[in-house]
Amino acid sequence: MTTSDVIIVGGGVIGLATALELAEQGCTVTVVDRQAVGRESSWAGAGMIPPGEVHLSSRGYRQLALASSALWPEFSARVHELTGIDDEYHRCGAVILAPEDDPAALDDEVTDWHTQQVETQMLDREQVRQTSSRFSNRLQQAYSLPGQAQVRNPRHLKALIAGCRKRGVQIREGEAIEQLDIRGDRLVSVRSANNVFQGEQFLITAGAWSGAFGELLNVQLPVAPIRGQLVMVQLQRPFPFIVEQGKRYLVPRLDGRLLIGSTESLVGFDRTVETDTIEILREFAACILPEVEQLPVERSWCGFRPAATDRLPVLGRAPGLENVIIGTGHYRAGLSLCPVTVRILGNLTLGREVEFDLHDFRPERFAEPIAEHV
Ligand SMILES: Cc1cc2nc3c(=O)[nH]c(=O)nc-3n(C[C@H](O)[C@H](O)[C@H](O)COP(=O)(O)OP(=O)(O)OC[C@H]3O[C@@H](n4cnc5c(N)ncnc54)[C@H](O)[C@@H]3O)c2cc1C
Repeated sequence: MTTSDVIIVGGGVIGLATALELAEQGCTVTVVDRQAVGRESSWAGAGMIPPGEVHLSSRGYRQLALASSALWPEFSARVHELTGIDDEYHRCGAVILAPEDDPAALDDEVTDWHTQQVETQMLDREQVRQTSSRFSNRLQQAYSLPGQAQVRNPRHLKALIAGCRKRGVQIREGEAIEQLDIRGDRLVSVRSANNVFQGEQFLITAGAWSGAFGELLNVQLPVAPIRGQLVMVQLQRPFPFIVEQGKRYLVPRLDGRLLIGSTESLVGFDRTVETDTIEILREFAACILPEVEQLPVERSWCGFRPAATDRLPVLGRAPGLENVIIGTGHYRAGLSLCPVTVRILGNLTLGREVEFDLHDFRPERFAEPIAEHV
């Protein structure tokens, strides 16, 4: 039997970063994962960190997005200093292209960014062309978003794992949690096929698999996987900024690798990467950067975004259980929202005040009548 102050079920970016924070606050922490930690959605993502939020209207969510973007530089620097591993976090900026079917959408987005005091600049066709001579000359209207940042997420995970080990976090891989021992309003231990993990506080950060814990905890937790596919090519020379169009994007790494994403499919945990989707993504990239047409696909993969039915994170105590905290449902933004999530989950675990309004993220919302669930 393993005993710690805190048991964290699920070692993605959310679980690992929270483990590191709690260990730094003096807790003994065990992270339990059914496989190698840091190999699921957090590894598969593109690592974009927007300077706020314009797609989801929840005020609470927008506050989290703004706060998290502001926390990232220090969050990344701290892990770098601790481990010597550079996660390549940097503010690369972005150019957001008008969706082909809805060019006017940009005006609303720019207005929305301004209400969040985020800098943007509208670019007409000529200005788009001036932004990069490598762009196709068929591109139309766009705006620039200088505050957009990115992190090379596989490296960030490597750094978090190293940081956790350095701070004494026990990482237990190959332990799928299948059973929970609940006594009254407390969770006493969680069990894999071969081991028991006992703690004072438990965090459920199992990403797209978190839904299964709803049943075990006897709470409604409608979190499901949304598969996203990504393609990578190696450019001959690095490209400086992110380009987005609707839900698709190009994310250039500092070494010239270019991630081309992404898709959304509700197919359960099917890990198929589809040949025709790879081609569609490559064509999308080539319409923006014609040089991509000549480049072979170096790698393609998919990952499972953890999505609640309302697409908002689930952050807070599990209803009816005083020592279980849920931290999941980050959907398309688990990397960008990580620093603020760590603050929230860390403070909840330590019984400290949380400085953010968590109303929209409360786990009990799924059991409430629809009118209250907004
Ligand atoms: C294609 C794609 C692109 C993305 N792009 C971005 C982006 O640009 N920016 C951004 O911010 N976000 C992005 N995301 C979303 C982001 O990756 C996720 O929101 C985030 O990684 C979720 O982190 P997590 O720690 O909750 O989950 P995960 O990283 O999936 O980790 C969950 C962990 O729990 C473990 N686990 C599950 N069940 C059990 C169990 N029963 N017992 C023990 N362990 C268990 C798993 O093995 C896994 O290691 C993207 C995602 C995808 C798929």
